[in-house]
Amino acid sequence: MYKTITNDELLAIAGEYGSPVYVYDAGKIAEQYNKLTEAFKGHPTRFFYACKALSNINILKYIKGLGASLDCVSINEVKLGLMAGFEPEAIMFTPNCVDLEEILAGVALGVRINIDNISLLEQFGNKFGGGYPVCIRINPHIEAGGNYKISTGHIDSKFGISIHQLRHIERIVKTTGLHVQGLHMHTGSEIKDIDVFLQGLDVMFGIAERFAGLDFIDLGSGFKVAYKDDDQETDVQVLGARVAEAAKKFEAEYNRKLELWFEPGKYLVSESGSFVVKVNVVKQTTATVFAGVNSGFNHLIRPMFYEAYHKITNISNPDGAKRIYTVVGNICETDTFAWDRVLNEVREGDYLVFHNAGAYGFEMSSNFNSRLKPAEVLVEDGVPRLIRSRDVFEDLLRNQTVSIES
Ligand SMILES: *Cc1c(COP(=O)(O)O)cnc(C)c1O
Repeated sequence: MYKTITNDELLAIAGEYGSPVYVYDAGKIAEQYNKLTEAFKGHPTRFFYACKALSNINILKYIKGLGASLDCVSINEVKLGLMAGFEPEAIMFTPNCVDLEEILAGVALGVRINIDNISLLEQFGNKFGGGYPVCIRINPHIEAGGNYKISTGHIDSKFGISIHQLRHIERIVKTTGLHVQGLHMHTGSEIKDIDVFLQGLDVMFGIAERFAGLDFIDLGSGFKVAYKDDDQETDVQVLGARVAEAAKKFEAEYNRKLELWFEPGKYLVSESGSFVVKVNVVKQTTATVFAGVNSGFNHLIRPMFYEAYHKITNISNPDGAKRIYTVVGNICETDTFAWDRVLNEVREGDYLVFHNAGAYGFEMSSNFNSRLKPAEVLVEDGVPRLIRSRDVFEDLLRNQTVSIES
C-alpha cells in the first residue's frame, strides 16, 4: 500500500522549489495502474496511457516501468514516447483532423496508426494496401453522459468514423486490401455508468465480424475518478469482470482471440497530482471574501474551462476555524477556482493545495499574462525530484524575434 504525501512534505517541497508547483505522487499512479491490471485479469487486456493528460517524460518513463503502453494524439507525443523508451509496437497514434503527412510520420516511426476519418482511410489504403496494419476509430454514437465538452461520442462530435458509415469503410477495406488490425472507440471522459462501456463493447462486437483479421478492440477511456468527496470512481472491478465475460462469449462466436485495450489518462494520473499555491491576498468585498493566490487559469484551467471541481485544502493552517472563501487567481481575466468554499481560515502567505491536479493540469497551462509556468516535482518512495524547472523570464522571449534599438 502506498503512503500519501503529507502536508508537511508538500510544504517542504514548496519551500525548496517555490510555488506554484505541481507535485506528483508516483505511488498513487502505480496503485491506480495495479487496480486496473488486477480488475481485468480475466481477459488479455492492455492499457495504453493517454499521455495528453500529463506528458512529462519522467512520468512517461515511470508509467512505462509499470508495464503500460502509450496512447498519443500528436506526432510530438509519439516522439516523446519513443524517447521515454516505449517500443513502437507499444505506441498507439490516434490523431484527429491531421493531414496524411503527420500519419506518414507515424508510419516512418513504426508506431500503430488509428485512423478516424474516411478520407484518410482511403488515402492510407491507396498508399499501403495491406502493407501497414491500421486500427479504425469508430464513433458508435453512444452518449457518455456528463459534460458535453468532454464527451466525444455524440452526433455532433468530430471524432471517429460514424458507425453509420460502416458500408463505406468496408468498401475502402475491400478495394484497397487494408489490413484492419483493430477497432477503436473513445466516447469521452468521465463515463458515469459502466453500462456505457458495455454498450460500446456490444456495438464493437456487432461490427467486428465484418473484419476478418482483428487482433484487438480498443475501448478508449472514460474511466472516472472522484473529484468530490462523495464522487464515485469507475468501479473497474465490476467492469473488468463483465467485460471479460462478454469477451469470452464473443471469442467463441468469432472463433478468434481478441485482446481488449483501454486508454486511461485521468484514471492513472489525476489523483497523483497536488497543485500547491500561495495565498497572496485575502480581500474582503461587500459580497464575499476572496483568497487570491499566486496562480490562475494559466496554470490550472479546468475550473474555468470545464466548470470542474477541485477539492482545495489549506495545508499551512489545517486547524484554523472554518470560513467561506471564493478562491481566485491573479490573472487579469475572470479567474475563479472555486466559489463559496469552506476552508480552514486563510491568511496571507498560507499555502493551498488543489487536489486531483495530475491530469490536464500542467499539461493545459500557458503563459497568459506573461506569467511563468510552474515547476513539476515527482515524489518516488518519499523522495522528491524536480522533473521540470519553473519557467524563467527568458522563456517568454524564446522564439520571439527581438530587436532592441538603443
Ligand atoms: C483523451 C483521450 C483519452 C484519455 O481520456 P481520460 O479521460 O483522460 O482517461 C483516451 N483516448 C483518447 C483517444 C483520448 O483522446
